[in-house]
Amino acid sequence: MNQYFKPLPVIDDTSSPFWKAAKNKILQLPKCSACNEIRIQFERWCPNCSSERFIWEKLSGEGIVWSHCIFYKKYFNEFEKEIPYNVVLIKLKEGPKIISNLIDIESKYIRVGLPVSVYFEDVTNEITLIKFKSIKT
Ligand SMILES: [Zn+2]
Repeated sequence: MNQYFKPLPVIDDTSSPFWKAAKNKILQLPKCSACNEIRIQFERWCPNCSSERFIWEKLSGEGIVWSHCIFYKKYFNEFEKEIPYNVVLIKLKEGPKIISNLIDIESKYIRVGLPVSVYFEDVTNEITLIKFKSIKT
């Protein structure tokens, strides 16, 4: 595996089940056992009802582009070689929204409502990032 020079997520006890699942090509998020809300945050309490009870819910990995932008300016040295690159907000089929990137697509084809599916990008031996790609229809 090539060396990866961009910033990596900091994994702690609350987020490690998410990252371990991603390593195994599974997208899962905490689902509140009291109100059933699925959240992208890994904190202990449900932001909707404050319950501490939750399970890890396996998700379909499908969604749509909810919002997007293209970065043309260098804000981070590590991303300089990728300019211009996209940053997208994906609304997952199950409800939560997740910030990511679309792979294998030219910027001009990115639009709100574009159907996408998850793509697991192995970047180090420990970390697999969650990216998305357009579903060909
Ligand atoms: Zn809740």
